[in-house]
Amino acid sequence: VTVLSGRELAADIRAGTAARAAELAAAGRPPRLTVVTATDDEASAWYVRSIATAAGKAGIGSEVEDLGAAASASSIEAQLSALSGDPTVDAIILTTPLPGGARLAELAEAIDPGKDVDGANPVSLGRLMTGLPAFAPATAEAVLRLLDHHKVALEGRRAVVVGRSAVVGKPVAQLLLDRNATVTICHSRTRDLAAVTREAEVLVVAAGRAGLIGADYVTPGAVVVDVGTNATPDGGLAGDVDPAVADVAGALSPVPGGVGPVTTALLLRHVTMAASGWPDARTRARSA
Ligand code: NAP
Repeated sequence: VTVLSGRELAADIRAGTAARAAELAAAGRPPRLTVVTATDDEASAWYVRSIATAAGKAGIGSEVEDLGAAASASSIEAQLSALSGDPTVDAIILTTPLPGGARLAELAEAIDPGKDVDGANPVSLGRLMTGLPAFAPATAEAVLRLLDHHKVALEGRRAVVVGRSAVVGKPVAQLLLDRNATVTICHSRTRDLAAVTREAEVLVVAAGRAGLIGADYVTPGAVVVDVGTNATPDGGLAGDVDPAVADVAGALSPVPGGVGPVTTALLLRHVTMAASGWPDARTRARSA
């Protein structure tokens, strides 16, 4: 099986980001990211720390606004609005999970689309859907970048996506469609999941269920991208794809070391793009 590693690609992306961040710093000030979080979740805390560390290495300023797990939806929204209006903040990420009852799409409406580096605002998703420039959710973009890096052809091929969240499944399906794949989206109510996934030449799995995809779910030679990140009892990380799939698939992305590092690298690349006025310089002002 070919291992679809994301490490080399992530390093390439990071190098470009660091160079761009240095240019921006030389031209005035370094790009700056604010991560807003409102949870005690350990996995989320780990994710936030890894973003902050990677940002520092790339020459991107970052800070975390921790509103606490008891934060109200309105206080999160107020914080996002304030950051959207702050010309010294180039990029905003709102982490999940959110406090009970708060919906990501609703709160993310308060993130200026020009600062929405993880493509969470429904405006960003709508622009993506209609082919207008917008930040795609970094994980979804990472899947496509990983496939491109390993020269996996998409045009005309049968692609199956397992998962339909607005963060991963739906935008991945859209990006595959944009590349002229023929796309099927599966979810928890899909009848006979294995029969559908066996039709895939390219299978992308983002269900958040460790080991969901066994060897009998995969047609021999298929390309399989595992987006799942599930904590294991020993403190490690497992994907949604059973290790036995390696004996059947033609190519398989590892967890960890596949989509994950590319996602983090793309998020930071998006920060430098936002600081450069992409996707639409008219959406906001930037100043020191
Ligand atoms: P999510 O919001 O929980 O969505 C999971 C999706 O999978 C839902 O659409 C759900 O169907 C579907 N699903 C769940 N169980 C299923 C089953 N038994 N059969 C078929 N479909 C099933 O999760 P998410 O935010 O999209 O994340 C998905 C996974 O990717 C998680 O493991 C997450 O940790 C990981 N992730 C990784 C990265 C990275 O950078 N590597 C980034 C983000 C997320 P319904 O819609 O019917 O409920």
